[in-house]
Amino acid sequence: MTELRRLAKEESLPVYLVGGPVRDVLIGMPIRDLDFVVEGDAPGLADRLGKELGATVVRHEAFGTASLALPDGRVDLATARREVYPKPASLPQVTPASIHEDLARRDFSINALALPLFDDQPRVLDLHGGVEDIRNGLVRILHANSFVDDPTRVLRAIRYEQRLSFQMEPDTLSRLRDATGQMSLLTGDRLRHELERILEEKHPAPVLDRAAQLGALQGIHSSLTDTGAVGRLAPGQPVLVYLAALTYPLSSQEAEGMIQRLNMPGPWAEVVRHTGELKRLEPELSVDNLPPSSLTGFIERFSEQALVAVSRFSSSPLVAQRIERYLTEHRHVSPIFHGQDLLDMGIPAGPLVGQVLQELRDAKLDGKVHTEADERTWVLESLARKGQSADE
Ligand code: ATP
Repeated sequence: MTELRRLAKEESLPVYLVGGPVRDVLIGMPIRDLDFVVEGDAPGLADRLGKELGATVVRHEAFGTASLALPDGRVDLATARREVYPKPASLPQVTPASIHEDLARRDFSINALALPLFDDQPRVLDLHGGVEDIRNGLVRILHANSFVDDPTRVLRAIRYEQRLSFQMEPDTLSRLRDATGQMSLLTGDRLRHELERILEEKHPAPVLDRAAQLGALQGIHSSLTDTGAVGRLAPGQPVLVYLAALTYPLSSQEAEGMIQRLNMPGPWAEVVRHTGELKRLEPELSVDNLPPSSLTGFIERFSEQALVAVSRFSSSPLVAQRIERYLTEHRHVSPIFHGQDLLDMGIPAGPLVGQVLQELRDAKLDGKVHTEADERTWVLESLARKGQSADE
């Protein structure tokens, strides 16, 4: 920031710190990434800054933006722009503009703040009453059509309200309620991106609960109603663990519908599917005296993320504890004997080798064999039972 400020002052460049960082400084919250707006060529300025700091610059020429990865966070620079929405929920048409127009296109007054870097004694540029709204703890849209233009703002408003412990300004709240139906016009990618932003929050449960209360959770997918499993998780879990908890109550058909609607990438879809399958297996996983080999047989095909997730929020403590035991203990168990040892004992190469090894592992899991000598005896007995012999 110091370097950019020097450049801005030396050359009288109209550069502003904008949005989240200005908001968070005023609230007294730690800031993460820095967003700057330039009335002019942002990628060009980013190049010069990158050279001075020895940082790599990634330019997005088409959007007039560029970013730098610095040791203490990301810095984004954007050319000030105006946005026009050709139709509701579509992506806006963007043209270069003044900082005033750039602030006017933003979602909420608390985000429509800019701090000029080129002034000696900078004062916050606050054209929409954002400072007052921060003081009063209010989330407020800038114009009546805001949620209709961009229904992702419905979820953004709820996220800020809950994260900052703010309240929705009454007119904003009533327009938000009216706009939840418009969320169906959003593309899957945009909707998923906002869901991901919610799941990246330290405390997603209150955001999801509030979204459910306002009808916006069903705007993500109509089958989402029960957020209980998310509420059972400790704060700060990975996104996919929260996703698993959110989709845990869904039937397989509902889950498939949500996977399609949000155009989920492979890892998301896998966690959602595996979580559902695990939930449906819970009766089998809850029986008395379930041997470790049976438990392993039931669950070893599932992804680690789904297993970790279900072990953290399953409503059955027994299932949670068994999955946890599988993850920490059972899955690391393997026989001392390898395939080659069985071949060396004279078992012919083929499926029998794999079968014996699998059964040997199960025996070890269930505590029937411990030492190498136990394993040898067990293999010989197993072969005898199968009517095979080893040439020892
Ligand atoms: P966070 O603390 O969640 O990172 P942020 O304010 O930095 O908050 P971003 O999503 O990174 O949020 O967006 C940066 C800025 O861009 C916001 O402060 C806001 O001014 C603007 N913005 C982002 N999304 C929208 C949107 N859908 N409509 C209007 N303005 C938006």
